[in-house]
Amino acid sequence: MTAQTDIPSRMADLISGLRENGVTDAAVLMALESLPREMFLPDLFRDRAYDDVALPIGHHQTLSQPSVVGRMTQALELSDRMKVLEIGTGSGYQASVLARLCRRLYTIERHPALLKDAEERFQRLGLVNITTRLGDGSLGWPEQAPFERIMVTAAAADVPEVLLGQLGEGGIMIVPVGLDENDQHLVRVRRTADDIETDDLGPTRFVPLINGGVED
Ligand code: SAH
Repeated sequence: MTAQTDIPSRMADLISGLRENGVTDAAVLMALESLPREMFLPDLFRDRAYDDVALPIGHHQTLSQPSVVGRMTQALELSDRMKVLEIGTGSGYQASVLARLCRRLYTIERHPALLKDAEERFQRLGLVNITTRLGDGSLGWPEQAPFERIMVTAAAADVPEVLLGQLGEGGIMIVPVGLDENDQHLVRVRRTADDIETDDLGPTRFVPLINGGVED
């Protein structure tokens, strides 16, 4: 049997594995199930698209593990009325999951080649509610702020103040914090009327958020 004909059963196995791994939100599972993950990978790694592992996407960047994408997405408590910002478009996989669940997604990537490939994928998938920007995501997207949700998919030294400033009241931001690869935590920040609450969602491992301009 070729890898191609196997896809529905491999997807079914992946989704049941995710359920066992703490991804329980039905809408998030449906969004993951609706996306052909092999489409976001270089040819070399396509046959591993339905394994719950992180995989290289070139330029020293990685596509996150599906269970991590699932847990981060459900921690964001999205609704289809929300305006969301993602930092670190990468392959566009996480962006596509978010776009299926929110009203409009804004996503920023500093690497032109990665962004171009991601934009082509959004088009092929018919995801018309995504707006992209080539630039430094650590500056956020001030013209479009405030956002109801923000997801950072690269690790920051601390919760980024600039992004916190672009999070609306009642908003939630998910961000990997810690520059030491072996001591990094996923942090959920909630902005209430007069306070900021933070929750530690456990250890994680992301490539660093680069401060500075666009890659050339
Ligand atoms: N969300 C991606 C994976 C992210 S990997 C996916 O689903 O495939 C982290 C990404 O963040 C990389 O593509 C990297 O180039 C990007 N990145 C790192 N620092 C950045 C910055 N300051 N601004 C924008 N993008 C950044």
